[in-house]
Order: sequence, then structure tokens, then C-alpha cells
Amino acid sequence: MAVQKMLKFVDVSREMPRKRSADVRRTDFNEIYAEFAAEKAAEQASRCSQCGVPYCQSHCPLHNNIPDWLRLTAEGRLKEAYEISQATNTFPEICGRICPQDRLCEGNCVIEQSGHGTVTIGSVEKYITDTAWEEGWVQPIRPAVERSESVGIIGAGPGGLAAADVLRRAGVQVTVYDRYDRAGGLLTYGIPGFKLEKDVVMNRIDQLAKGGVEFVLNCNVGEDLSFDAIRGKHDAVLIATGVYKTRDLAAPGGDADGIVRAIDYLTASNRKSFGDDVPEYDSGELNAAGKKVVVIGGGDTAMDCVRTAIRQGAESVKCLYRRDRANMPGSQREVQNAEEEGVEFVWLSAPKGFEGDAVTGVQVQKMRLGAPDATGRQMPELIEGADYVEEADLVIKALGFEPEDLPKLWNTDGLEVTRWGTVKAAFGTGQTSLDGVFAVGDIVRGASLVVWAIRDGRDCAAAMLDYLGQSATVAAE
Ligand SMILES: Cc1cc2nc3c(=O)[nH]c(=O)nc-3n(C[C@H](O)[C@H](O)[C@H](O)COP(=O)(O)OP(=O)(O)OC[C@H]3O[C@@H](n4cnc5c(N)ncnc54)[C@H](O)[C@@H]3O)c2cc1C
Ligand code: SF4
Repeated sequence: MAVQKMLKFVDVSREMPRKRSADVRRTDFNEIYAEFAAEKAAEQASRCSQCGVPYCQSHCPLHNNIPDWLRLTAEGRLKEAYEISQATNTFPEICGRICPQDRLCEGNCVIEQSGHGTVTIGSVEKYITDTAWEEGWVQPIRPAVERSESVGIIGAGPGGLAAADVLRRAGVQVTVYDRYDRAGGLLTYGIPGFKLEKDVVMNRIDQLAKGGVEFVLNCNVGEDLSFDAIRGKHDAVLIATGVYKTRDLAAPGGDADGIVRAIDYLTASNRKSFGDDVPEYDSGELNAAGKKVVVIGGGDTAMDCVRTAIRQGAESVKCLYRRDRANMPGSQREVQNAEEEGVEFVWLSAPKGFEGDAVTGVQVQKMRLGAPDATGRQMPELIEGADYVEEADLVIKALGFEPEDLPKLWNTDGLEVTRWGTVKAAFGTGQTSLDGVFAVGDIVRGASLVVWAIRDGRDCAAAMLDYLGQSATVAAE
């Protein structure tokens, strides 16, 4: 029994008995987690061999000092472990929960490489900082000195917030603008609560606000306030707006009722978990309960949709992907989680069209993998005569995101973008083509990861401090 419970601690979201309500499951796992967290964290931390070639660290985008905080955790010196962990990561408890560790730190752990199973680095990182919160070690920012310079940050996702944290610690006056009613970006409205509990995100935002970061919410820059107005108000501006334009399908019948965008579906589910009034969820439009659900796509967003649909009580959940399992972009760990929860993957399958005014099915074309393209990836090819119809009364399109056209939306001709529409920004500093304007996160990289947005935000804040330093003045008392 004890072993079973301890195994479940490793990743609470990986184990999910079926046919029980999400609330009941969540309570069970939180109890299990609390009971065994300290024991399991120390046990896992002590498995680190202190190998001296910390590939885990070099494969963490933040270069977290993993071996040192594992050693301190194994020795029970949690406060010191926390100090080291938070020195390189603005939101360690968030990364510990949602980094695709199998592709980053854990996938490169030498113990994993030698076939003995990775040290569960993410779970330990989460444990250290969850403990820090419980013990009151995480305190609001109190800058040693207040500076008169101000920075306006557009976008309250992890990139913007990581930069806000560094700038505020240096005493800069920071205002964060966001078009949503809550800060957090995709941490709040994209990533589902079963992977990242929303109180974890809100605690961080409250803490930043207590430390003097000003949030201006429900403010869509370009509509409610112009970009030029923000530039005029602040000494420097950071663009951290993420990517939100959904890639679409040009297939007949694609505008039928019951075919929805992943971001709308996940946002409705997340809003509901905040207790908001969400008419589209209550009407069933963005709710999978009792439905035959087909999710189209093979990335992590598709995995979040299928796992959310299972939790909402869908009758069946299928994931259509045009390549095979080995070639899907999403984390293999997430695929395994989804399969264990009852999701069926329909590999080598692409939508050709949709049936019904209110969707009743997806016309599916079967594919095989052919010659590699310029990137070396095998291209899917159509198998003639193998089409069939997959029944569905809710179809979720999870085909990825692209940047919005910021220069047009904001009427800023001077802001250079790449041919993909991402903002052109200097590597390591985030400096754009406009003086005093910087950019970080997905709007620069294209759809990426939280940990990279944090890294960008931290690096860019350092560069902004250099920029502001040219005219640094300390505010009068
Ligand atoms: C469904 C989903 C699940 C994901 N799961 C994971 C995961 O498990 N692990 C992981 O590492 N990554 C995950 N990602 C990717 C990760 O969330 C992003 O890479 C990360 O959030 C990017 O951070 P950001 O700060 O650049 O942008 P965002 O988090 O997108 O934040 C941008 C903010 O800018 C605001 N904004 C945009 N335009 C304007 C405007 N004109 N005016 C004012 N505000 C504006 C938005 O409202 C938003 O709050 C996921 C992404 C999605 C879509
Ligand atoms: S930030 Fe992410 S990649 Fe780095 S140690 Fe933590 S979980 Fe691993």
C-alpha cells in the first residue's frame, strides 16, 4: 500500500482511476501527496549520483543548479535548497509541475541514460518550493532602493511576469498590461488545472502585486490603449504577448456547429474552475460531457484537450494525428498519460471534411509516412481508398498557434517581424528594432515552453536594466 501511494507521488497527474469525478480524484491525490511528499522527495533526491557531468543542468533552459538542490534536499536542508532553486528560476513550483521534463532535465539524467529510471527532478523542485510557500520563505519583493524609471510590460504570461520580477527587485516601477481579466497568460487560461492548479499561479501574481508590480487588466493594447501611449508613458517597454492566432483547417464543413478551437475549449474549462459564469460551457458548446469527442492534432495542446474531455465525462475521446506515435510533437509522457486515462489515438489519420450542420462525424483520410522533407522529417502521404467516417459530436482543433500581426494591430511600422510574424528580437537581450522596446517569450520564439519564456524574461530584464542604467536615477524619498 505504502509503495503504491509513494509511486503516485512521482506525478499525481499520471495516475488517474477512471469513472470518478475530477474533484474526488484531486482530493485523493492531494492527500497522498501530502502524506508522502517529504519522504519521497528525500528518497528521489538521494538517488542523484552527483555525477559531475550534470547533463540535467545543461539541458534545463534555466541551467538550474539541480545537483546542489537535490543534495540539500536529501540532507533535509530544504531552506538552502529553496534559496539555490529560486536563484535561477522565478517560478520553480510551476516548472516542477509542467515542464516536459522527459525532454529536458530528466531525459538527460545519467541515471535515466544508464537505464535505472530518472531522478524525478521536477517533482523535487515542486516539493522544495511548495514547502517554501508553506513555511513562509517566499516573501514579496522589497527593493533595497526605489528607482524613478518605469517599464511597461504588455502581456502577463510567464515571460512578462519573470521580467517584472527581476525589474521590480531592482527597484524599477513596473506596470503589466493584459487583455484578460486575470494575469498569468497561458498559465491561467491555457494549461489545465489538473496539470497546474490555478491557486499556484494566483499566489505568484498576488505576491508580485504585493511587491509593487501594478497590473492593468482588461486592457487590450491596440484597442483600449495604444502601443504609442504605453511607449510614451514608460522609459522602456516589453512585448510579451504570446501567440494566439489558431492554425485552421481548410476542410469542407469546417464551420459546422460543434467544431471548436482548442484555446476556446480550454479557456472555458479553466474559467469554470475559477467559478466564473461561462454560458458556452453551460450550454454544452464548450463542454465534452456525454459527447463523442475527436481532437485533431498531435502536440501538447491536443493532449491537454483530450485529457480535459476525459475529465469532463466524455462518452469517448479520440485523437487524430497525421503522423505516427514516434513522430508526434507532443511529449511521450503526455501520450502515455492520455492512453492510461482512456484516450484512443488514431495515428496516420488526417481530416478531409466534416459531416452535418451540427457536426456528426469527421471524414478521415488514412496516411502513411513517405520521403523526408527538407528538415528530415518523413512526410505523411495519402493512402487512396482508405477513407472512413469517425463519429463525433464535438471536434476540437488543436493544430497550433501563430503570432497575431502586431505591427498592423498596433500601427507600428517600425516594429520588425520575421517571415513567420514573430517579433524580431536580439538573442539574449530581447532588443527589438525600436529603441527601448524589447520582446520575449512565444511572440519571439513562436509557440514554445513556459521555462523558455521565463528564461527570456529574466535575460531581457537584465538587458533592460542596462538600457535604463544609461539614465539611472534614484527616486526621491
Ligand atoms: C494549451 C496549452 C498548454 C500548454 N502546456 C504547456 C506545458 O505543459 N508546459 C510548458 O512548458 N508549456 C506549455 N505550453 C506553452 C506555454 O504556455 C507558453 O510557451 C508560455 O505560456 C509562453 O509565455 P508568454 O509569456 O510568451 O505568453 P503567454 O503565456 O501566452 O502570455 C501572453 C499574455 O499576453 C496577453 N496579451 C496578448 N495580446 C495582448 C494585447 N494586445 N494587449 C494586452 N495583453 C495581451 C495575453 O492575454 C496573455 O495573458 C502550453 C501552451 C498551450 C496553448
Ligand atoms: S525548470 Fe524545468 S527543465 Fe529546469 S530543472 Fe525544473 S523541471 Fe527541469
